[in-house]
Amino acid sequence: MNILTFDIEDWYCYDTISRNLNWDDYEVRIYKGVEKILLALDERHLKATFFCLGWVAEKHPQIIRDIAGQGHQIGCHSYQHELASYFTEAQFREDTIRAKNAIEDVVGHQIALFRAPSFSITESNLFCIDVLAELGFTTDCSIFPTTRDYGGMPSYGSAEPSIIEHNGYRLKEYPISPMPLLNKQVVYSGGGYFRLFPYWLIKKFTKQSDYVMTYFHPSDFDPENPDMDWLPRIRRWKNSIGHKSAYNKFLRYIDDFEFVNIEVADKMINWSNVKTIKV
Ligand SMILES: [Zn+2]
Repeated sequence: MNILTFDIEDWYCYDTISRNLNWDDYEVRIYKGVEKILLALDERHLKATFFCLGWVAEKHPQIIRDIAGQGHQIGCHSYQHELASYFTEAQFREDTIRAKNAIEDVVGHQIALFRAPSFSITESNLFCIDVLAELGFTTDCSIFPTTRDYGGMPSYGSAEPSIIEHNGYRLKEYPISPMPLLNKQVVYSGGGYFRLFPYWLIKKFTKQSDYVMTYFHPSDFDPENPDMDWLPRIRRWKNSIGHKSAYNKFLRYIDDFEFVNIEVADKMINWSNVKTIKV
């Protein structure tokens, strides 16, 4: 099962490093990127899941109206791309309520699907699961099921949909799907590694996997994506590569493989048969 998702944020909407920047000062480039994505999906009659920032819903509501208007599924991606691992429980609750309300005001229905920025629900902030369930979320896509810079969740085990349970709260979990490469677990199905890796490798990884969770961004497909000179060197480099060829690579990818959104995946999975992970 290959799941097609997008994170709806602009090129400068970048976790903690950009939280102190005034996002209103930056050139708005997101409209073109979203337009390209919607065109590609429309031409192929594909439906995807779009995780949107509350900030985007407030500043650029038309983007989310356009996405929802084409029948795509909408999820919440925090208010302003702050990592969940930097929040206290109270801050996470406040941020998530703010984001959920902003998105719901635009789409006019309840949002039950969540993805934390950079897959930042880890073993050290499991309160996020309680908060999400209390706020009416049923489904989460925030877990990196192995060790990584932000902590990850190695106890999750293999990357596959499951029920995650904490303090008696239960959510359907669709983790991101990393692959091993040179002693590292890499997520090739979106973002920097998708832009960096040659298509044959992406294709090989996808063929080898029973479950692939993608996460593309409008800026991945922007050939003029601006340089982020405030980032540390390696991240700045990672954010500057592959933008010219990524859109064509993406088109090839969605032509070569079958993709569904989370709404459809949800119906394909027999939830009484999946593992329950108590954390
Ligand atoms: Zn994001």
